[in-house]
Amino acid sequence: MKVDWLIIGSGFTGATLAERIATQLGQKVLVVDKRDHIGGNSYDCFDEHGILIHKYGSHTFHTNSDMVWNYLSQFTQWRPYFHEVRTVIDGKMVPVPFNLNSLHVLFPKNFAEKLEELLIQHFGFGVKVPILKLREAASGELSFLADYIYQNVFYKYTLKHWELDPEQLDRSVTGRVPVIISRDNRYFQDKYQGLPKHGYTRMFNRMLGHPNIKLMLNTDYREVMNQIKYKRMIYTGPIDEYFNYVHGTLPYRTLQFEFETLDQEYHQEVGTVNYPFEYDYTRVLEQKHLTGQISSKTTISYVYPQKYEPGVNEPYYPIPRNENRELYKLYQAEADKIKDKVLFAGRLADYRYYNMDQAVARALTLFKSEIGLKS
Ligand code: FAD
Ligand code: UDP
Repeated sequence: MKVDWLIIGSGFTGATLAERIATQLGQKVLVVDKRDHIGGNSYDCFDEHGILIHKYGSHTFHTNSDMVWNYLSQFTQWRPYFHEVRTVIDGKMVPVPFNLNSLHVLFPKNFAEKLEELLIQHFGFGVKVPILKLREAASGELSFLADYIYQNVFYKYTLKHWELDPEQLDRSVTGRVPVIISRDNRYFQDKYQGLPKHGYTRMFNRMLGHPNIKLMLNTDYREVMNQIKYKRMIYTGPIDEYFNYVHGTLPYRTLQFEFETLDQEYHQEVGTVNYPFEYDYTRVLEQKHLTGQISSKTTISYVYPQKYEPGVNEPYYPIPRNENRELYKLYQAEADKIKDKVLFAGRLADYRYYNMDQAVARALTLFKSEIGLKS
């Protein structure tokens, strides 16, 4: 087979680049994915009970980027959706990100009102404060509150998820879910939020449905590389694997999902409930809240964090901390040496904790800077 581009991976990064190259440059692309489906970790499908599930954990689309929103809107309509999460503390369902409503669920009225007043005085209404910053900035009763939130919302959850405590990770990790000094229970405050109206996979089908794009699923690219003639490659898998781990393995965290279908319309009050203390799982997910599907049944999934072992399970989360970034730089230097032949991009190839919109933005920017103008 002869193509202009060989793209490894059909997630957001690979699909965006394939679409751009096929439609904007009129060049031929072969997309190879080792899984039996397109869409990478954003893949969704109907289970045997007819419920639309997210196979790799709930994916909520949110972005402040007009460029990304407008780009994806060519391939899907959107179902408006604002994600909400609760965390279970002392058996109570507490809104996360922790906000002024959370205070009132946990503490007696007078005390909650006092803490509320102190937070507003100290930081201002509507302000977002990452937990590690709150701990540093707080004094008196606010430092009680900061410690309370740190211990109850972040510490145990983070240990379970990462096997590291919040101080051993980049501050940006817990900074993704800051304390919000308002009554906004939404998990994200981005300008655009929603779910593809007919699911992610339908959207990916439209992105990849161009005659210049061929797909090869169930195939590790290393099995077929020698049989394909191509000019350049784009690789969106784990960068350390590409280079045969010459500098050692980059650490990742992985998850195991256990699905269960229940004979009831809904199981829980919101799409995600976190369990920092009880059980071995961190979260229970119920995607019907996201998809809005109407059914008398519901499918939930329990999320169990696990050690990542190359070749045994899937690398879901790069682990953001200095020593890992240093190791990644060694691989980045290897990638630079071959960039005329192979481009690296995506959550695994860049070893960055990208959300979906960031993966699309990275792909669109790469297309403009390295592909569109040079080809
Ligand atoms: P991926 O989707 O990982 O795609 C990489 C593809 O490469 C995979 O399909 C893989 O099979 C393929 N591949 C790898 N190696 C090979 C090989 N050797 N040969 C052939 N194919 C190969 N983002 C949000 O914005 N909102 C969310 O709510 C959200 N929730 C998430 C929940 C979980 C549990 C996880 C893990 C991620 C979540 N994300 C979320 C992030 C989102 O999944 C990523 O941003 C997005 O998937 C990145 O796309 P990608 O194409 O870079 O990588
Ligand atoms: N986090 C936490 N408790 C929570 C929610 C988040 O400790 O209730 C921390 C935890 O370290 C987590 C990180 O914040 O890994 C980022 O959370 P996010 O919900 O963005 O994680 P993701 O959805 O990517 O798994």
